[in-house]
Amino acid sequence: MPANPALQSAKTLALRPQWRRTMLGCVRCPALVESRSRVVPGDGEIPADVVFVGLAPGRFGGDRTGIPFSGDRSGDLLRRMIRGADLQRVFITNVVRCNPRDACGRNRDPDAHEIANCRSHLEAELALARPRLVVALGRIAWRELAGHAAAFSPVDASPLRIGNRLLFPMYHPAYVIRGAYTERRYARDFKGLAKLLRTAIAD
Ligand code: SF4
Repeated sequence: MPANPALQSAKTLALRPQWRRTMLGCVRCPALVESRSRVVPGDGEIPADVVFVGLAPGRFGGDRTGIPFSGDRSGDLLRRMIRGADLQRVFITNVVRCNPRDACGRNRDPDAHEIANCRSHLEAELALARPRLVVALGRIAWRELAGHAAAFSPVDASPLRIGNRLLFPMYHPAYVIRGAYTERRYARDFKGLAKLLRTAIAD
């Protein structure tokens, strides 16, 4: 992850030409082509130890900066937690790569078709990053990655093993910013995540 989120990692930029044709020019979701300022692919280290998967670029964050989880409060909190847990080799992305807005111009959740449309882009990023651990930030990302039958319960959660990867649920930083979960507990969860990652790497 770059120290300055305004600067994308060199490795990510080096891969941009490969992505450009498919992701940056993607028009699969007509409503999102209208609402987005830009397509926001994932960013960070490749290969990565851990990939964080959020929901969608926010209108004050990734949609403005072009980098997922940067420029807004959710991004600031996530990156502060990552630094606090001393997580290295991190890649950050979203379930969808374009900002969804409602009729009033506010962020909305992507619908099932939009999520399905963007699945191949997410798979491409995961294949490039080859992480040991994938963290689903929030219920929608969890269901997309773990399956709709999997309960979302980040408190004292156990990881799911899918192939050679571990999948782990955490609250989305926006949930913490809304006050539904304390920042102190969130920081504790990230420390637990770092411990889980160290164990996974040692295996
Ligand atoms: S959300 Fe994904 S699939 Fe839909 S237009 Fe954007 S990049 Fe394409």
